[in-house]
Order: sequence, then C-alpha cells, then structure tokens
Amino acid sequence: MPEGDTILRAARALHRALAGRTVTRFESVFPRLTRLDHDSPVSGRTIDRIDARGKHLLIHFSGDLVLRTHMRMHGSWHIYRPGERWQRPRHQMRIVIETGVIDAVAFDVPVAEFATETDLARTPALRDLGPDILAVDFKIDEAVERIAERPGMSIAEALLDQRAIAGIGNIYKNEALFVARVSPFSAVESLSRETIEKVVMTATKLMRANISDAARRRFWVYERGGKPCRRCGSIIQRQKQGVEARSTYWCGACQNPNPKSQIPSAKT
Ligand SMILES: [Zn+2]
Repeated sequence: MPEGDTILRAARALHRALAGRTVTRFESVFPRLTRLDHDSPVSGRTIDRIDARGKHLLIHFSGDLVLRTHMRMHGSWHIYRPGERWQRPRHQMRIVIETGVIDAVAFDVPVAEFATETDLARTPALRDLGPDILAVDFKIDEAVERIAERPGMSIAEALLDQRAIAGIGNIYKNEALFVARVSPFSAVESLSRETIEKVVMTATKLMRANISDAARRRFWVYERGGKPCRRCGSIIQRQKQGVEARSTYWCGACQNPNPKSQIPSAKT
C-alpha cells in the first residue's frame, strides 16, 4: 500500500501540474462519477488545489466539488502531456482529467467519489482519521493518546490503524520500530508513553526525510527477511502479523522483546 509520504508526494506533484488550470474533459469508468459529471459537469471548472489527508488524495475544483481517491494497494495517479503514451494499460484507467496542457490519469484506484467540502468533513473515512503524521500541524500528543487507547493491540498493528494515526504504512511501521528499538509484537499496554512517543517521532522523521529524498531510501529491516541486521549482524526475521496479515520484519537482538526494561537509544 502506498504510504502517506507517497500520497503526499503524488498530491504535491499533481498540485504543481494542475492547480489553476481549467478542466477541458473528464472521463471515468465509475458510473457514480460520470453521473455527477453529466448533471453538474467537471469540465469548465478550475482545479483549485490538490492535497492529501492520510492516504486520501483530494482534488478540489471550483464550485465546491472535491474528488476523493484512495489508492489502496495498487492505485496511482500519473501526469502526462496530451497524447503521451501511458505507462499503465488502458484497462487499468479509472479516471482521466484533461486540461489541454496536462492530463492526470488515475489507474486502479478502488475508491473514488465526488463530495462537497461539507460532505467531505462528514465522510467517516476522513472524519475518523487520527492525526496525520505528515501534516504541518501534526498533533503528536493526540496520536500517542489514540495509540494508548488500544492497549491490547500490538504496537505494529496500532501504527497501521488509521484512526489512531493517519499516514503510516507497512514500510514505516517496520522501519520506525527498528530504529526506535521496539519489538513489533509488544502490546501497547506494556509500553510507556515515552516509548510510544519515541516510535511516533521516529516514524515522523523517517517519513519526512523520504518526502524529499525518495530515490535514495535504504531500509533497515523492511523486505530484508533472512539478511543480516545492518546494526548487529543478526538475521532479520519476517512474520505475518495482525488481522490483515501484513509482513513484519524485525531484528530480535536489536528490538527489545521486553519493553519494560531499558530501551537503549538508537544510534542513527
Ligand atoms: Zn540487530
């Protein structure tokens, strides 16, 4: 699943390419979208801005209309010049927004709906989101509080719970827990507030660094099962975890399985 940093990067790229432009043509394979476009055309509207909330990408048009898309596992937005060859097959196309200068194409986006700004604020998927880890006004205390409200959950699962904290995906769940030296299997109730805060702070730092420098990321544990730990040389382990069976990678030596004892500071 794309993480919050990927969605934010996509939103920024779309915003740079499209903000201020007027839509010349709108096309979608979703009947719900084309119905609205028929009654109240998207063509002729100005694209005011594009932003991200958690893993939702929001395209705001003039006349109080917002297109909300969620990428789930394989969805993505691409930007093309008119007539340029698409990098994904036509049958994966879900939405096309043309402006005469730039075309934005959504591929394999499973969730897409139009809303007014007021509707959007009431949409459960957005209304119930926890604090957005990449937001400028990220409220870390509230995120820590919401995680602490899930005492029986493992810390790895709590980090993926978008109602506790929005924007963290499987990559930064694994990476942040390694860098903060916390076992992914620790129950939230066994962790101190300071430890939870340290994990969240670490995820914030890693994700913010990645927004500006995505090409150079090198992971500590993510997708490194069976390879030696970059810190201690022990073999990185891998296991499916949680109801969604997401892959967890960890170093048994570096990531303290007993969080009540002292957790040494990460030397990074
Ligand atoms: Zn290690």
